[in-house]
Amino acid sequence: MSAPLLELDAVSRRFSRRISLGDRIAAKLGATVEMREVRAVESVSLSVMKGETLGLVGESGCGKSTLGRIAAGILAPSAGTARLDGKPVMSETGRREKLTTRVQTVFQDPFASLNPRKRIGEAIAEGPLAHGLIDRAGSRAYVAEQLSRVGLDPSYSSRFPHQFSGGQRQRIAIARALAMKPDLLICDEPVASLDVSIQAQVLNLFLDLRRALNLTAIFISHDLGVVRHLSDRVAIMYLGRIVEIGPASEIYAAPKHPYTQALLASVPRLNRHREGRTAFKPIAGELPSPLSPPPGCHFHPRCGFATERCRSEPPQLRPLGPERWAACHLAE
Ligand code: SF4
Repeated sequence: MSAPLLELDAVSRRFSRRISLGDRIAAKLGATVEMREVRAVESVSLSVMKGETLGLVGESGCGKSTLGRIAAGILAPSAGTARLDGKPVMSETGRREKLTTRVQTVFQDPFASLNPRKRIGEAIAEGPLAHGLIDRAGSRAYVAEQLSRVGLDPSYSSRFPHQFSGGQRQRIAIARALAMKPDLLICDEPVASLDVSIQAQVLNLFLDLRRALNLTAIFISHDLGVVRHLSDRVAIMYLGRIVEIGPASEIYAAPKHPYTQALLASVPRLNRHREGRTAFKPIAGELPSPLSPPPGCHFHPRCGFATERCRSEPPQLRPLGPERWAACHLAE
């Protein structure tokens, strides 16, 4: 882990509601039509080093998937820049640059990302063929190699997606992504829709592949427990902002931000009593609407430590030590 592979510099992404016909008519008649905007990602800066796995964690709707899509060049940021190896992921006109074939994504629902009419051998080979990584003559052996690597029998290449279980389909999605020889793999909730026992198998596969291929990866999850053993560093997101980031071992041992503490307390653990902690505790309250985030610290309505200052002054992400940052007035 030396040079940064991915750099996000003050990246923001906003989504505006489309103006409906009714709104246009109302505006013509003189009514005030409110333009509402969702700030999905707000000025996020972070980098991912070569060979590093970054866990990106937060509740649904916090903006982590949007951030992953910006990093992959699928979505253009509204402000800021994403760079891969020092080059912008998006052109100035919002086009995905060719270099982003070097970034591959594994999504939560592998069935939706696989063409039901295509044999999985074709699905795995089509990207490498289109980008000249392999030729037709070598495609069969290449597909067999990719399937073996994810623990599937090469003879499965002639089957269709519906002939596989959820866990097997996710292995196929991983094989297809790795077949492109990506420099950066972005996994967006890849085990969220799987049974717990299958989740463990797929996570172990990621661990093995990470070691064997020295992968650089961003692993997105709503569950801090899922990314624990995979990540070198962990970034916690809340309503579009990074609220804490640091080495995984430190974040799990001594979380500084109250939201990270609450996320960690909400992870069910078998040996919690032996560790002297209280029982599983869900996070209080609901994630506020990103259409109207609370002023000051976005987390203040759910935070047991909130003060007057928290209600009016947004905390900045500040260094707490080497590689350790948190955005909380108390952590200062
Ligand atoms: Fe809680 Fe205040 Fe820290 Fe926000 S800034 S997490 S409200 S203590």
